[in-house]
Amino acid sequence: MSGILQLCATPIGNLGDMSPRILECLQNTDLIAAEDTRNSIKLLNHFDIHTPLTSYHEFNKVEKAYSLIAQMREGKNVALITDAGTPAISDPGEIIVRMCIEAGITVTSLPGPCACITALTLSGLDTRRFVFEGFLPREKKDRDKVLKSLESETRTMILYEAPHHLKETLDDLSTALKEGPERKIALCRELTKKFEEVLHTTIGASILRYENEDPRGEYVLVIEGRNPEMISAEEAAVWESMSISEHVAMYVGRGMDRKEAMKAAAADRGVSKRDIYSALEKEK
Ligand code: SAM
Repeated sequence: MSGILQLCATPIGNLGDMSPRILECLQNTDLIAAEDTRNSIKLLNHFDIHTPLTSYHEFNKVEKAYSLIAQMREGKNVALITDAGTPAISDPGEIIVRMCIEAGITVTSLPGPCACITALTLSGLDTRRFVFEGFLPREKKDRDKVLKSLESETRTMILYEAPHHLKETLDDLSTALKEGPERKIALCRELTKKFEEVLHTTIGASILRYENEDPRGEYVLVIEGRNPEMISAEEAAVWESMSISEHVAMYVGRGMDRKEAMKAAAADRGVSKRDIYSALEKEK
C-alpha cells in the first residue's frame, strides 16, 4: 500500500503554536521533507523529534518530488514542512501536492499557523471576500500586469513582502490603487512574535511612516478593496457621453451578443429594450 503526503503547518514565530497532532505526525512519519533542513533541525530538536530529514526546496522541487513520490509508492509516509507556516502557500509545497494528486498518492493537511490568514483576521478589513496574491512578481512586466489587475479589485487583498522590498511595494501600490479615496492598509509584521505589530493606516501614510525608518521583519500587507459603487459610478460616466449605438457597441465589444448588449444598455438607461431598438433604428 502507498504511503501518503502529510502537509504539516509549523509556527510562524511562536513555538507554542505547534499543534500536538502535528508533533505526533512528525514523530511517527517515515521521512520529513523540509524547505531548509538547517532551519528545521532547530525546530525538530526543540521538540525532541529525530525522524530522518531530507531537503525539499525551490531548486529541487520537481526532481525531488519524483523521488519522494517513489518512496511513498513503496509505502513510506512523508511529512512536508516549510520554513514557517502552512506548506503550499507561497512556498515550494504547491508543486508536490499537484504531482502527488496526479500520481494517485493521498495528500492530507494538518492545519496550523498561516501568515496570510493571521494577518487578515487582524486587519479590521472585510474578511468575507478576500484575494491572496502572495509575493508580487519581481520582474517588471509581470509585476505591472498583477498591479493593473488589482486596480479594480473589490475584494480585500493580501500580499506577502520582505522588509527590503517593502518601500518599493508600497510606492507601486500607491500608484496602482490611486483612484478614489485613500485605501486603508494593515501592515502586519512579526506576527505571533514578541514584537508583533499591526499598523492600521492608509497606503499614503504608510509611505510617510517608512520615509525615515527602515522596515524590519517579514510583512503581510492587507489592503482594502475598491468600493464597487465607485466603479459603477465610473461606468455610468462612461456611457452617459455615448450615443445609444455606441453604448450597445461597448457591450458587444465586451463579448455580449447584440440582444444581451441591448438589454444591458436598456437597464443602464432605465428604459425598455423596445426603446433602445427604436432609437437604434432612428440613429441608422
Ligand atoms: N507558507 C507560509 C504561510 O503562508 O504561512 C508563508 C511562506 S512565505 C515564503 C514567507 C512570507 O510569509 C514572509 O515573507 C512574510 O511575508 C510572511 N510571514 C511569514 N511569517 C510571518 C510573520 N511572523 N509575520 C509576518 N509575516 C510573516
